[in-house]
Amino acid sequence: MTEFAMIIGGTRVRAASEFDVMNPSTGKLIAKAPNASAQDLDRAVAAATSAFELWSKRTDAERSKACLDIAGKIGEHAEELAQLLTQEQGKPLNGLGSRFELGGAQAWAAYTASLSLPVKTLQDNEQGRVDLHRKPLGVVGSITPWNWPVMIAVWHILPAVRTGNTVVIKPSPFTPLSTIRLVEIMNEVLPAGVVNVVTSDDRLTNIGAAMAAHQDIRKIVFTGSINTGKKVMATAADTVKRLTLELGGNDAGIVLPDVDPEAIAEGLFWGAFINNGQTCAAMKRLYVHESVYDRVCNALVAFARNIPVGDGQDEKSILGPIANQMQFDKVKRLVDAATQKGRVLLGGQPGQGLFFPPTLIADLTATDPLVFEEQFGPALPIIKYSNLEDAIAQANDSPNGLGGSVWSKDIEKAKQVANRLECGSVWINKHGAIQPNAPFGGVKSSGCGVEFGEEGLVEYTDIQVVFS
Ligand code: NAD
Repeated sequence: MTEFAMIIGGTRVRAASEFDVMNPSTGKLIAKAPNASAQDLDRAVAAATSAFELWSKRTDAERSKACLDIAGKIGEHAEELAQLLTQEQGKPLNGLGSRFELGGAQAWAAYTASLSLPVKTLQDNEQGRVDLHRKPLGVVGSITPWNWPVMIAVWHILPAVRTGNTVVIKPSPFTPLSTIRLVEIMNEVLPAGVVNVVTSDDRLTNIGAAMAAHQDIRKIVFTGSINTGKKVMATAADTVKRLTLELGGNDAGIVLPDVDPEAIAEGLFWGAFINNGQTCAAMKRLYVHESVYDRVCNALVAFARNIPVGDGQDEKSILGPIANQMQFDKVKRLVDAATQKGRVLLGGQPGQGLFFPPTLIADLTATDPLVFEEQFGPALPIIKYSNLEDAIAQANDSPNGLGGSVWSKDIEKAKQVANRLECGSVWINKHGAIQPNAPFGGVKSSGCGVEFGEEGLVEYTDIQVVFS
């Protein structure tokens, strides 16, 4: 069994205790991960603080090259990382699974290398000159979830180091191994201490909470649930940390009457079921106009029933198991309640272990938990509407505001509806497609701040204005 250690100051560090990491496809132990203590976190922050002195003074070109080199390293090690990710997360190697995630991680790293934040001259005249500089913050604490752990680690780490910060990352206890290996690989091109990783089981030591409270961490970039995000925000207030919070979503898709149901079925399916629905900006509620309702339901069933579900390491699998027991129990609870009220079109009953087949449940309404709670799993509620105003109101009647989508042949009409949705990203005839040059973030309780593009990069800096 491979030995996994934390990476602190460029060296492998064992913890005094360890915790088990399980394969959700088989229920078997893959490896033990280090369970960091508060002192281990202090050591990692101290290493990052000391590395900041040098790293923040490197030239922009040097830091850009380092990010590009990281992209190259991710490419070189993509298959190894994909195999590890599949073992601990369960997602298949193929389809929109681990190899896809590694491709995304490499692309994001390379794009981030190409971004920069040059000094902006705000004024240069006889009254004087005013220059706006973007300065790195110091040590950034990154806390990641278990759904897209490698890609999200890259989303956090790359803009931080690109702008001259140093990082301590703490992955989810469900998926620590791919992040440990990713950071190890990054350390082949970065100076010691620029990126450090500590891992812990929240039930043993809550290192995430300790990071939010830490005096020497200047920013937390957090991706995870709304509940934990609120705790991070409250704790971070004491040290006035900068925050980027990418939290939960309950994205609505609205299907207008003019669609061709068979033509949109594949896009609807993957909008909802990418990564088994365990995706922040997956479609989690589908509103369909009554005139096309039955045909959309039938077309979705026809597409979904042919998707191979199986062990993530089986090359034939396109969807895997739910990633962990906690999430499985949540999905089962919501589906059980929905089957009492709605019409099960497909699935509805769990399989072996953590497997749960793609589940489509029609005829649900706003009061059903599968509609108003974030399921984060392979179960889509379908809601019939007759009045578009009502569908828009229902879509917006949520504390979340991450993404949304509108499906129609009439793009202008769809854009008008999109404009009225309360969410950070909205797609026409697709759902959840993100890209490194477009800022991504939530409104309302789905978070604060954005990632990606120049807007995402500035979140890792403070402004200093020089008047001369
Ligand atoms: P989670 O909130 O349970 O855990 C996220 C991370 O926070 C983990 O690393 C965990 O160990 C850590 N943590 C636990 N307690 C903490 C505390 N008190 N202080 C600080 N950190 C703590 O979330 P999860 O179940 O891993 O992820 C699923 C959720 O993440 C879903 O709600 C999903 O929508 C959301 N998500 C959002 C985005 C986005 O970009 N908006 C992307 C992916 C996932």
